Amino acid sequence: MKKILDEDTIAAISTPVGPGGIGIIRMSGQRSLPILKKIFRPSSENCPFHSHKLYHGLIIRPDSERTVDEALCVYMKSPKTYTREDVVEIQCHAGHAVLNQILDLCLALGARLAQPGEFTRRAFLNGRIDLVQAEAVLDLTAAEAEALSQLGIESARGRLSEKINQVRKALVSCLAALEVAIDYPEEDSEILHQAQIEDILRNKIITPLSSLVKAFERTRLHRFGARVILAGKPNAGKSSLLNALSCEDRAIVTEIPGTTRDVIEARIDLDGVCVTLLDTAGVRNDPGRIEEMGIKKIRQLAPESELFLWLIDLSEAFQESDFAVLEMISSFRNTRVILVFNKIDKISQDVSELSSRILQKIREKEPEIAEGPYCFISAKEQTGLSRLQELIRQELLGQERQLPPVAPNLRQRDILEKSLNFSRRALDGINLGISPEIPALDIRQALDCLGEITGETVTEDILEQIFSSFCLGK
Ligand code: GDP
Repeated sequence: MKKILDEDTIAAISTPVGPGGIGIIRMSGQRSLPILKKIFRPSSENCPFHSHKLYHGLIIRPDSERTVDEALCVYMKSPKTYTREDVVEIQCHAGHAVLNQILDLCLALGARLAQPGEFTRRAFLNGRIDLVQAEAVLDLTAAEAEALSQLGIESARGRLSEKINQVRKALVSCLAALEVAIDYPEEDSEILHQAQIEDILRNKIITPLSSLVKAFERTRLHRFGARVILAGKPNAGKSSLLNALSCEDRAIVTEIPGTTRDVIEARIDLDGVCVTLLDTAGVRNDPGRIEEMGIKKIRQLAPESELFLWLIDLSEAFQESDFAVLEMISSFRNTRVILVFNKIDKISQDVSELSSRILQKIREKEPEIAEGPYCFISAKEQTGLSRLQELIRQELLGQERQLPPVAPNLRQRDILEKSLNFSRRALDGINLGISPEIPALDIRQALDCLGEITGETVTEDILEQIFSSFCLGK
């Protein structure tokens, strides 16, 4: 990507708006230092503005010499800066009024207000970071879960780019070998070439690409959270459980069957995964209009949900209405189910004996659900909840609780998958012994995809889309 010489000096408040200790105004561009010199009165007489050194003083209005704030300022000389341009940072008090006044002074003296992500965009355009690292900055500023921020740091440090560049090198070597085969078809070293190319495609391209795609899948729940539907006949205790798990009175608990009419959501944090619990209307054999809407909602929600918690009131006999729930749940083939036997506080006899009778009935209809995980709780007395949470964790995260050390984001994942498909097609083509032009074309496309990730072959629209989702001052 060629360097775009940008004459503008840009400025923005780089810290979040709101009360806080300090606020930072950042400028980037050739006029940063001249502007700073006009508004900064250093406290020591000798202020040579050495690069990367912090100076104490006052920010003043150059027209009236009136003090705006006390500040620490740093001038960072190009190219060892975030944007590779001259950068100035002014650290002052975080108040909105102070920050805005200083920003206004910078703008009045010739800086332009930076667009969202423009500092990082300059860092990318000036070749300091590649697009993967630029996006990592974005992911980092957006990451709420600690584990995700760690991934962002690794990408920002270039580990993901490193992996992608290794694949790219391997693709280039395959392409070169194929081009030799195209240009000199009579060479009989071709057999050797073919075996080598196949080996590289398999081990240095397809395997690492597919493990990157898989790495994304392992971060999916951390990025987007999980949705868990509470299902069960009216009065099974869904609202009570939602309240107990979320420790908030989000859902109104009532004794009249079927009063949980619409979907009520509550969010809980399980090992850094944001789990949204969805409480819908009870399911009955003969649903009234309002409950019908609830069932309709479940049908809409189920495809985007990871898990059902099926609540069964253990204090009551298993009824037809429970079978209706079973029928509904089992109509979603791919959704996992945890059976939650509720109201154990009302039971004096052996709960496992009671539950095994119910499990037997379920087994007759849906053996898979009966063999799945189950637990005993009292939503009312809040017992058994940690076991339930453990089961939810197991179902959602499985054994792999740790995030992979490096993983792409969603945009990168989709492109990696495309690249993977082109690479697989190239391998198939070579295996079938078709003319080398065709696998060569596939490999070129696989390479272009990788360029879209690192930024070499990315279009202006996509850059616009990526950088505009940054916050101001980044
Ligand atoms: P929903 O219709 O499935 O949402 O059920 P609710 O949460 O509204 O509960 C229905 C009734 O059962 C309410 O009177 C709750 O207090 C009661 N209930 C819920 N869970 C328990 C429990 O674990 N033990 C007892 N004894 N009562 C419960």
